[in-house]
Amino acid sequence: MRSIDFSLYSSIKIGPKVRVFRIESIDEEFERFKIVGGANNILVSPNPPPMAVLGKSFDYIRIEGDELIIGGATPTGKVVSFCKKHNISGLEFLSRLPGTIGGAVKMNAGVKEYEIGSMLKWIRTYEGVVPKERLNITYRNSGIENIVYEAGFKLLSGYSEDLRRRLLSLRTNQPKEPSAGSCFKNPKSDYAGRLLEAVGLKGHRIGDMAFSPIHANFLVNLGKGDFFDALKLIELAKKRVFEEFGTVLEEEIIII
Ligand SMILES: Cc1cc2nc3c(=O)[nH]c(=O)nc-3n(C[C@H](O)[C@H](O)[C@H](O)COP(=O)(O)OP(=O)(O)OC[C@H]3O[C@@H](n4cnc5c(N)ncnc54)[C@H](O)[C@@H]3O)c2cc1C
Repeated sequence: MRSIDFSLYSSIKIGPKVRVFRIESIDEEFERFKIVGGANNILVSPNPPPMAVLGKSFDYIRIEGDELIIGGATPTGKVVSFCKKHNISGLEFLSRLPGTIGGAVKMNAGVKEYEIGSMLKWIRTYEGVVPKERLNITYRNSGIENIVYEAGFKLLSGYSEDLRRRLLSLRTNQPKEPSAGSCFKNPKSDYAGRLLEAVGLKGHRIGDMAFSPIHANFLVNLGKGDFFDALKLIELAKKRVFEEFGTVLEEEIIII
């Protein structure tokens, strides 16, 4: 077990201090826990279900044949450094996309047209290796319901520092305050940020939570923001956007 204070550990700086189970081996028994990675895409309620994190034994990267094999607890930054060192291409977009490989695969994390799902070959769950073809990977969703202990990726050569820098430059309009990245997924052929701005919610604040005045789709914590103020803003945004545009906004942020 390990004690985690989510008001410090999570990127949005919200949540209780709770005991979290640390997983060091693969077992079906652990499926009863809500698995947490780097907590960069979650909003934890004051009374969350039992949670677990992957321990150090799942933090590794290795090359095997024509595959890059990465443990679920491995930080994305470490993956980018490894790719640079070994001249591997395809995962440069993970630079400053905070989190672990398990979280990134589960969320099908990505930047612009680059998504982790397109580099993925298989995942390892308690049932063994599951090929990508058996997953249902879509925009910011992998359909994965089990704990991802390990993932196998295509091994392509030709790391591009140029691409990494180009993608990083897209982050210059990202707010500096604590957030969980994009609050809502972009609806088909539109942008959640544009819709939030159009209904007057850019910069809108409840308590210490706000839709950032810099980028409306970032729900930011301005100090002592709490779970309930965050939820109120999320509900308000969904209501206004639906009333005005008939569009159902879907959260990208995972509420636990
Ligand atoms: C400043 C900032 C910028 C961001 N920019 C981007 C961006 O450009 N693109 C993007 O896609 N995202 C972005 N995000 C969101 C976040 O970085 C990604 O979603 C990331 O992949 C989350 O990884 P994590 O390990 O922190 O997962 P967590 O937040 O801990 O968990 C997210 C989800 O994954 C599940 N999960 C975690 N680990 C595992 C596992 N081992 N097996 C199965 N399920 C698991 C959790 O249960 C939860 O449902 C950003 C976030 C921040 C704070």
